[in-house]
Amino acid sequence: SALVGVLALQGDFAAHAAMLRGLGAEVREVRVPADLDDLDGLVIPGGESTTMTLGIEREGLGDPLRAFAASGAPVFGTCAGLIMLDRDHLGIMDVLATRNAFGRQVHSFEEDLEIAGVDGPPVRAIFIRAPWVAERGEQVEVLAAVDGHPVAVQQGSLLAISFHPELSGETRLHERFLALIRSAGDRGRARSA
Ligand code: GLN
Repeated sequence: SALVGVLALQGDFAAHAAMLRGLGAEVREVRVPADLDDLDGLVIPGGESTTMTLGIEREGLGDPLRAFAASGAPVFGTCAGLIMLDRDHLGIMDVLATRNAFGRQVHSFEEDLEIAGVDGPPVRAIFIRAPWVAERGEQVEVLAAVDGHPVAVQQGSLLAISFHPELSGETRLHERFLALIRSAGDRGRARSA
């Protein structure tokens, strides 16, 4: 089975780990650069992007995370994780996020989303002080939007969403991420073990 890392400096990493284990993946919490060794993919969870940035700097994780993504390994960012992937943070995806984009008064809301490539009923999406994608490069595909603002995007093996499927038992985004890992492996990134 795939060995998936979950960045565990801050935020709701435990909920992602539980969901990934439920889908049959092995999970490793990532706190220092050596934890990235041999991973097949990485989740950057929701939380608080300023705190997460400080933790990444403290642990010297910025360059290792960029190298991990540059190797072609799939990365899945949710909410603060989307912010971490953007041009102003880790610079892994060609997007610029707006933090707390849905307005300070709207701390949290839920919405039924149609997401390109996700079959079945709409995804019940939980947004918590969520970002949206304000700018994106040509290689970035928009999978879903709210009021015209992208809230789910993909760039090759990089997936980023504004909401929290790990809090609602919605498994289809994590399944899509695990499928990205399988196809990355098929392209020759099989883990040496
Ligand atoms: N508002 C948070 C931030 O800017 C993100 C919220 C979340 O991850 N649920 O970091």
